[in-house]
Amino acid sequence: ARAQIGVTGLAVMGRNLARNFARHGYTVAVHNRSYAKTASLVADHGDDGDFVPSESMADFVASLARPRKVVIMVKAGAATDAVIAELIPLLEEGDIVIDAGNAHFPDTRRREAELKAHGLHFVGTGVSGGEEGALNGPSIMPGGSPESYEWLGPILEDISAKVDGVPCCTYVGPDGAGHFVKMVHNGIEYADMQLIAEAYDLLKQGLGASAQEIGEIFAEWNKGDLESFLIEITADVLAHVDAETGNAFVDVVLDRAEQKGTGRWTVQNALDLGVPITGIAEATFARALSGSVPQREAGRVLPAESGAWEISDRAAFIEDVRLALYASKVVAYSQGFDQIAAASAELGWNIDRGAMARIWRGGCIIRARFLNRITEAYERNPELSLLLADPYFTEQVGQGVGAWRRIVAQAALNGVPTPAFSSSLAYYDGVRAERLPANLIQAQRDFFGAHTYQRIDKDGVFHTEWTGDRTESDA
Ligand code: NDP
Repeated sequence: ARAQIGVTGLAVMGRNLARNFARHGYTVAVHNRSYAKTASLVADHGDDGDFVPSESMADFVASLARPRKVVIMVKAGAATDAVIAELIPLLEEGDIVIDAGNAHFPDTRRREAELKAHGLHFVGTGVSGGEEGALNGPSIMPGGSPESYEWLGPILEDISAKVDGVPCCTYVGPDGAGHFVKMVHNGIEYADMQLIAEAYDLLKQGLGASAQEIGEIFAEWNKGDLESFLIEITADVLAHVDAETGNAFVDVVLDRAEQKGTGRWTVQNALDLGVPITGIAEATFARALSGSVPQREAGRVLPAESGAWEISDRAAFIEDVRLALYASKVVAYSQGFDQIAAASAELGWNIDRGAMARIWRGGCIIRARFLNRITEAYERNPELSLLLADPYFTEQVGQGVGAWRRIVAQAALNGVPTPAFSSSLAYYDGVRAERLPANLIQAQRDFFGAHTYQRIDKDGVFHTEWTGDRTESDA
């Protein structure tokens, strides 16, 4: 038994992760349900390093040095449970099972408890960066016991992306914390992508600009505060020409966005926690709207009452869109980090939000220059209750707030849907409001359902005897 780490599940992700381990000098045990993938990995990439292929799960487990470290990279869901069930009788106390697939965090919590009962460590880990990241350095978000991280941490940090020499991998927290953080990462990714899409739409409709021209604007933006992987690839995608038609590639792509479900999980969890992640929610619903074919077909008859959009100062408009995009993006991150804080408090995870921003700086889809600023904000104040209220972000967003309002107002006047821009601005105005109209809602609740209310002038819980037969109202 000489392999230092094993990977079972050798489709695109597992294969690349195994190659990444091998390239870093680890002896890697490799296994797949059907042997063909194992054989082709060794045949095609045997030069990457030292692989120990096995046909059976028993041989695979036997080839690993103890404590064994087995990475599962199979289809998330039932396949993961099937592989775990196969592994349990073959493993021994203290061995570490790592699920690197996109598991939903409640499943990870269940599996961790089950494996703990067998004396095994279970590490649910988020891995972001797609195929390319898995091979060349992903962002890695491992949960599980602190003890398992002592064994595993150095290896995972070794193969992770590095930014300024710092690994994009750190211990996240117990049981499901790693997969939870990966889920929120994906939710933020949805928001980021929707905001970019809205900016593109505004530039297209406001300026009548071509995809090529908008691509150049994004390339320019990528030199400043917005510098990020998603802005960079947006510029590349917009510049791309469809080989078949010679038209801009984006202009031939059907306008229906699909999803695999992590955005939905993020929103469902936020509803359970009562955390307003409106940017992520709007982004998720915007994808749903794009795919609402019968509604969209029926909706074409709706009157708009908007005339031709005339913009006199193109440069000023482009700068307004940039500032609105930046401000809305800060809101989406601020909300996502609130969600992490809320779950962490509820489940006793003790997640360091600054460290999460740090490990997202490289390897993953939302990697961006401004994540450094988020890390700094949480270093300044680890208890920060609102990222937007960190002095740096208050100033940055404050500088763009006029532009943000102009853009949302113009979008509304010209009939361009900007759900993420608009809801982010509404959130900003909501959290900064001295007084919200929730007083009226609470008063209504007391009226029809005797739900009581608190007062601004004295402590306690109050109920007013309203006139009329309140008891008949439908609460
Ligand atoms: P798939 O999700 O397509 O899964 C295919 C792999 O699962 C194959 O190795 C297959 O084995 C194995 N498998 C399926 N069912 C079973 C079963 N019942 N028992 C044993 N093995 C089974 O592979 P990917 O590489 O695309 O993704 C792997 C994981 O990584 C998934 O959880 C996915 O969500 C996640 N992922 C993460 C990404 C990221 O950026 N982080 C990107 C893409 C995926 P066989 O060859 O025998 O069929």
